[in-house]
Amino acid sequence: MYVAGVRALVEPSFWLGQPRTSPASFYDYFDALLGWEPFRAAQHGIAHHCTLALNPKEANDPRCLPVLDELPRYLVKDGVVAVGEIGYDAMTPAEDTALSAQLQLAADHGLPALVHTPHRDKAAGLARTLDVVHESALPTDRVLLDHLNETTVRAATDSGCWLGFSIYPDTKMDPDRMVRVLREYASERDRILVNSAADWGRSDPLKTRHVGEAMLAAGFTDDDVDQVLWRNPVAFYGLSGRLDLDVEDTTPQATHEGNSILRGAPVTTATRATEEGR
Ligand SMILES: [Zn+2]
Repeated sequence: MYVAGVRALVEPSFWLGQPRTSPASFYDYFDALLGWEPFRAAQHGIAHHCTLALNPKEANDPRCLPVLDELPRYLVKDGVVAVGEIGYDAMTPAEDTALSAQLQLAADHGLPALVHTPHRDKAAGLARTLDVVHESALPTDRVLLDHLNETTVRAATDSGCWLGFSIYPDTKMDPDRMVRVLREYASERDRILVNSAADWGRSDPLKTRHVGEAMLAAGFTDDDVDQVLWRNPVAFYGLSGRLDLDVEDTTPQATHEGNSILRGAPVTTATRATEEGR
């Protein structure tokens, strides 16, 4: 990612790909997003921040709900630049409650909110999301609606929220469609953010770079690319007052709680030769 030009990232907390069985598994996860992950990113020259929340899917599992009461002690930490991902998955009453409670937490902590919009029934999901946002104490200019596509971008634009597009290899959005949206919504370009993923599905963290390349090939300028891939994310997450883009200088031997990114001894020419000869 560093070689591809990535200098900073925001890692949102989300589902694991299988259900968590207790709130305690959130706390270890949040600690990793605030501890090991920034350490690991700094080893590669990348500044790391996170967003924390009870994700939409697990808002439906009563075993996970106690995390809502513990979130305040995490939301005060320096590495947290938004509450998120929050929003709707299956649009249940339990998700209504978790979404409005966490919008309030964002307002209480002076944080913006990263709002996931549902993958199924997207237009209705966005409308319901906006109803809850408008009822909340959080102004729309502190809300990022993510995973937008051609079916939701118009309504999202009219809402006054920030506009997020997640680029994936097979789902959500691809670079060429993103370029068409950027052209059609040129007047909104100062609040459009493009993101990529490295999650449990088929995903590719370098899709952000691919969008930049597709934009340049389509006649956009370097400044346009800088705006949607750098300046807008910096402006949005900077609303937290906590964005720190300096990366600590470290060595590969540095450790976090006793662990380095080196697993075992570094491979030297001598050990490699021995392994190859085996
Ligand atoms: Zn999401």
